[in-house]
Amino acid sequence: MIKKINHIGIAVNSIDQSLKLYTGVLGLSLKEIEVVEEQRTRTAILPVGESSIELLESTDPESPIARYIEKFGEGIHHLALEVDNIDDALKQVAQSGLPLIDETPRKGVENTNIAFLHPKGTGRVLLELVQR
Ligand code: ZN
Repeated sequence: MIKKINHIGIAVNSIDQSLKLYTGVLGLSLKEIEVVEEQRTRTAILPVGESSIELLESTDPESPIARYIEKFGEGIHHLALEVDNIDDALKQVAQSGLPLIDETPRKGVENTNIAFLHPKGTGRVLLELVQR
């Protein structure tokens, strides 16, 4: 069901500030910055081998990322696992009884379909399923 780690999402106060570390010091390249209106988030995509790091910056003080940073501070926000078929994967997870945040997939960055599992059912790890 799982193909690979697609990306690791990191909640940051400022993409510009964080890029000083990720591109300036660590030498990663910035592929693009995409605004996800629905999530009120700007996402910077930094490929790392077959996976990426995504820096998530809030564009609204009430957005999920803003609320996360308020509660926990900056840091690793979620782990995204790539699947071949997100509908099948979601069905399988739902059948196992684990709670879902997204019952049906929604649009992610780079035209992907994504869905989050509820951290209540995953040992407080926020897991995202991604289909390219
Ligand atoms: Zn993600």
